[in-house]
Amino acid sequence: MLHVTGIPAFHDNYVWLLQRPGEPRVTVVDPGDAAPVLAFLQQQQLQLDSILVTHHHRDHIGGVPTLKAATGATVYGPAIERIAECDVALHGGETIRLAALQLALQVLAVPGHVREHIAYYGEGRLFCGDTLFMAGCGRVFTGTVEQLFGSLNLLKKLPAETLIYCTHEYTASNLRFARAVEPTEPRLSAREADVLARRSRGESTVPGTLAVELQSNPFLRCEEPALQQAVAAGTGEAVGADALACFTALRAWKNRFS
Ligand SMILES: [Zn+2]
Repeated sequence: MLHVTGIPAFHDNYVWLLQRPGEPRVTVVDPGDAAPVLAFLQQQQLQLDSILVTHHHRDHIGGVPTLKAATGATVYGPAIERIAECDVALHGGETIRLAALQLALQVLAVPGHVREHIAYYGEGRLFCGDTLFMAGCGRVFTGTVEQLFGSLNLLKKLPAETLIYCTHEYTASNLRFARAVEPTEPRLSAREADVLARRSRGESTVPGTLAVELQSNPFLRCEEPALQQAVAAGTGEAVGADALACFTALRAWKNRFS
């Protein structure tokens, strides 16, 4: 059984730590900050075997140089020059094998948030960085909205029971937006109540299942007529029955929403 722990970093990031029971060698995903990871490794008497990076943003790679220097971990990441410490450059389509964890992960190309964004999938878990969030999705920076739409459609094809490990605890604010888009959608009010209760107890809302996202994440439902009508009414855009037009207008609306 693969065990995954979320190490909190900064204000609302999670550095995911993967381990097998009884095995001291572990892997982390997107260590934006080295200090909380080093503290966890020391406290739990663990050794860092490898680092997986989804994309080059500072809050995902800031801890990589220190962690690599301190542990000698192997760094996997997207094939771009800006990640100087990267040992294994990936494009998507590969399978990586982490021998220490006896874990094989498929590498998926998921451009959109940035052009060179990858995700890692294996043993029913998806590590997707800033592509898909609980009840939301990433902003478009150096990629395109069409790329992000295509990447989310790719992720929608994974098994419904897949656990989604995104990097940020954005769920409550994402649901506030989703409720503004569809105020009378009962699946959203139920989910928001659950999420707010968990947050008030100091609990994480990540991971969640793809099944829940398919039900209540508006960015995964842009082919549904009810959402298309809500987005057209809320934005004044002529969305019609076009899922990409709906997604584009919805993403732009979220950018303006506060
Ligand atoms: Zn990012």
